[in-house]
Amino acid sequence: MTEHASDATAPGTQGGPSAALAGDDADVIVVGAGPSGATAAYYLAQAGLNVLLLEKSRFPREKVCGDGLTPRAVKSLVAMGIDVSQEAGWLRNKGLRVIGGGLRLELPWPELSSYPGYGLVRTRASLDEMLARRAQSAGVKLLEGTTATGPVLDDDGRIVGVLAQTDAEEDPESRAVHPERTRVSSSSTAFRARVVVAADGNSSRLAVAMGLRKRDDRPLGVAVRTYYKSPRHDDDYLESWLDLWDGDRLLPGYGWIFGMGDGTSNVGLGLLNTSAAFGNTDYRSLLKRWLRSMPEEWGYTEENRTEPVRGAALPMGFNRTPHYYRGLLLAGDAAGMVNPFNGEGIAYAMESGEILARVVAQALARPTRVETERVLLGYPEALQDTYGGYYALGRIFVELIGRPKLMRYATNAGMTKPALMRFALKLMANLSEPRGGDAGDRLISAVTRLAPSSR
Ligand SMILES: Cc1cc2nc3c(=O)[nH]c(=O)nc-3n(C[C@H](O)[C@H](O)[C@H](O)COP(=O)(O)OP(=O)(O)OC[C@H]3O[C@@H](n4cnc5c(N)ncnc54)[C@H](O)[C@@H]3O)c2cc1C
Repeated sequence: MTEHASDATAPGTQGGPSAALAGDDADVIVVGAGPSGATAAYYLAQAGLNVLLLEKSRFPREKVCGDGLTPRAVKSLVAMGIDVSQEAGWLRNKGLRVIGGGLRLELPWPELSSYPGYGLVRTRASLDEMLARRAQSAGVKLLEGTTATGPVLDDDGRIVGVLAQTDAEEDPESRAVHPERTRVSSSSTAFRARVVVAADGNSSRLAVAMGLRKRDDRPLGVAVRTYYKSPRHDDDYLESWLDLWDGDRLLPGYGWIFGMGDGTSNVGLGLLNTSAAFGNTDYRSLLKRWLRSMPEEWGYTEENRTEPVRGAALPMGFNRTPHYYRGLLLAGDAAGMVNPFNGEGIAYAMESGEILARVVAQALARPTRVETERVLLGYPEALQDTYGGYYALGRIFVELIGRPKLMRYATNAGMTKPALMRFALKLMANLSEPRGGDAGDRLISAVTRLAPSSR
């Protein structure tokens, strides 16, 4: 269960002298400029707020990812005014190719009024920089090479800012934005704001420092990926392999091959924590063994590997709660927003960033602190309304596929029924019409409404 508050930093201590020295720096500080932080910052600035976005690395920077964007993520990119045309260098995909039970099915993305009918791929180095620059162009002050090291708390234990360290290669913008900045030490600075956002990814040190840990009753995935030079680099389908075997064990997870359009394929695999295999699998060696079963002409061999094999966790289904606590709002991976059905996180990072910004903009426009607090407390409710039922179903799903026999049965039965698989794609990629639509859309709406709460 979530532990919070009990071991949070004692009021006033983290702020140290800075709490008295620093003035107000922004309406909102956003920690982390991945998709959730950049999107939240963008919409906050659009609402006229003064936003400071702190990012520990410098762009372009790598992020371990499959680099696959479903139509859900495309919708969020379009909403932010990103040019997603092929002329702007994006590789489009038409749907998902599923391989399992000895069969291969191509499932086009559904035709819906709510989402575009295509997905995209883009390296995270490029995508994340694009989003961060978009936030900057909306008026956000982005400080790269600046790591938030802890919260600044008031006497009530409420976060009122962060302590941050800027790396040696100091961002010139840092000085330009705050020439008067009082340094707490040679390298540590306190920034203050009315509200702070933790968009600092899966580990979310900031949330942990406020006492918000991951929940062990919620799903978690672990995935590894790398890149290979391959003739399949311009595949116009995302490809997913359902049969991941470790000896005679069928594992709960899937492998993927996503053509990047640049001469390489992003190849990886991920497992869920709902089986015994989770803790005792050597992921890198599993990846190698899986790739050995591929046709040689695809090129997924050691000589063609262009990057190291890297891994990271995927926090799923509201894996960290509450999403608002004492002045701190969580978004994206920090909030455990990855979709438990398919491991997709970018769309949910961006959507939660947008929802958060709308709530904060309303909250900060209220004339009293009490009213502001009441509106901020609506953020977890807004997430619950949007994803609560769906993530609750997702939790049931990951429990079920943690049982190898059931998973084998479902794969074998599903793969012979394309109509059923088209429905499964809608459900698992969360791509259905929220209102109306076909019988499948209405069924998805009904079951997500009926699913038990995700709190
Ligand atoms: C192997 C793998 C494959 C995946 N494949 C896909 C996929 O194909 N499609 C998909 O949609 N999702 C995928 N995901 C999930 C996706 O990567 C995440 O859900 C997504 O990156 C979450 O975005 P975020 O902005 O919340 O966090 P992040 O992208 O992790 O961004 C957090 C940012 O915060 C910064 N930061 C951290 N700490 C601090 C600090 N103290 N101070 C300042 N800055 C800080 C980091 O440098 C980073 O820039 C995959 C994940 C893994 C591990």
